[in-house]
Amino acid sequence: MRLLVVEDEARLARALQRGLQAEGFAVDVAGDGSTGMDLARYGGYDAVILDVMLPGLSGYQVVRRLRAGQCWVPVLMLSAKDGEYDQADGLDCGADDYLTKPFSYVVLLARLRALLRRGAPRRPTVLVAGDLSLDPAGRQVTRGGAAVDLTAREYAVLEYLIRRAGQVVSKTELLDHVWDDSVDTAPNAVEVYIGYLRRKIGRDRLQTIRGAGYRLVG
Ligand code: CA
Repeated sequence: MRLLVVEDEARLARALQRGLQAEGFAVDVAGDGSTGMDLARYGGYDAVILDVMLPGLSGYQVVRRLRAGQCWVPVLMLSAKDGEYDQADGLDCGADDYLTKPFSYVVLLARLRALLRRGAPRRPTVLVAGDLSLDPAGRQVTRGGAAVDLTAREYAVLEYLIRRAGQVVSKTELLDHVWDDSVDTAPNAVEVYIGYLRRKIGRDRLQTIRGAGYRLVG
């Protein structure tokens, strides 16, 4: 496994490189954000350890640009900041995990192994199916670029379906994942909400697969 460490504190970078090499990883180091971004994008790494405070580009900017450029390499962010807000910023801009300095080397290794197990599947921050797009961070839905106004429940049904676009989703699955308490849910609740959604996003987008469920098509 090949890792990239982007860290401008030379002593920490060297210590990480030596420690990770001792674990059997191949490790490269970049000392600033721009070099780190170029290496991360084109270097074929299995994971990147990325400091937030860097000369050149910040860690936030690096990860945002990587994701915007369709590069899905797993990213573990490091920072001396420890506010909840900073962690949320890091994760919203596309990092996969976050550690606050000073960190335990054992925890770093465990997090890194978990990231490597997951690999680098596409993890877009905005979900798209055809001309429909749904932004989970901003809870916004657009169709052909125009905003679609949805209730909280309609939004939840659509989010579940768009994450499985092209696949058949059963009524039971929707009830389990979208309605937290199915005891009070009317038996036809799913049909009712599918009907509401069809009116807002177009009838042909939501197919009924008889006896199986529903399918959102792009
Ligand atoms: Ca730094």
